[in-house]
Amino acid sequence: MQQFFVVGHPVSHSLSPRIHAMFAQQVGIDIAYEAYDMPPGTFIESMAELRRLRKPAGVNVTVPFKADAFAYCESLSERAREARAVNTIAFEGGSPRGYNTDGVGFDRDVTRRFNTPLEGARVLVLGAGGAARGILAPLRKAGCAKLAVANRTPAKAQALGRELGIEALSFFDTAGGGWDIVVNATSASLSGAAPAVPNSAFKDCKLAYDLFYSTSATPFMRLAAESSVKRVVDGLGMLVEQAAESFCIWTGRSPDTDLVYRALR
Ligand code: NDP
Repeated sequence: MQQFFVVGHPVSHSLSPRIHAMFAQQVGIDIAYEAYDMPPGTFIESMAELRRLRKPAGVNVTVPFKADAFAYCESLSERAREARAVNTIAFEGGSPRGYNTDGVGFDRDVTRRFNTPLEGARVLVLGAGGAARGILAPLRKAGCAKLAVANRTPAKAQALGRELGIEALSFFDTAGGGWDIVVNATSASLSGAAPAVPNSAFKDCKLAYDLFYSTSATPFMRLAAESSVKRVVDGLGMLVEQAAESFCIWTGRSPDTDLVYRALR
């Protein structure tokens, strides 16, 4: 039986094992998929140990290792190269090939599940880590009317803005609002916080999207709702969509994501 893992820290909360089990059952194949915690700063050694002991066919990579996984892979898909972040590794002929499925997952969830076109939209992305990189590359190609990145550490937003040719802001600079979609791609929710943007950043916002997913509203979702945003959603749909894309890379099969999304919701 093929063995897959999601690696990260922390990772015990991950829904990925349940999602992949549902996909496998749906398409009638047998796979094993487990969460595997790696201490921060040990990606190379931990991967070597995982490969030696468990011989994975593929690995999903989550916080905080997507940049490490990018450096680790011996070949890269175009999306991984553009994002400079890897969330899916396939061991093809024994050598690690890196993919990035976060952007596709985000795009499908926003445009199909939430019927919100990205083309012509003014989009603000908060955060400049691996997840922000994954969604910014496809957002650049989606024909947004305006696209900007803002980060707690402004220098990182500026570096990313220069690299991608988009506007870079500090959290303070977002005060003017005027964004149709505000995306929280920070990991602030992991520590129970919202990114410190002013309420006025949500002026005119029609969709506030937190990449983090939770059984209750996240601090970012509460901040957006208090700031009168009508549609406030979490990243469960993106999680299911990016997982489906990884599953397809590994198995060649495309599962029905709506069934899985509804079951988890
Ligand atoms: P990284 O560790 O790569 O990046 C973290 C980012 O969050 C940095 O920009 C950092 O800013 C910022 N940040 C951390 N804490 C705070 C805080 N308290 N206030 C403001 N900014 C903060 O993480 P990832 O990019 O990989 O993941 C980000 C989030 O996206 C996670 O919550 C993850 O669970 C979620 N995610 C969801 C997916 C889905 O499918 N739904 C897929 C991928 C990710 P600084 O530079 O200042 O440190």
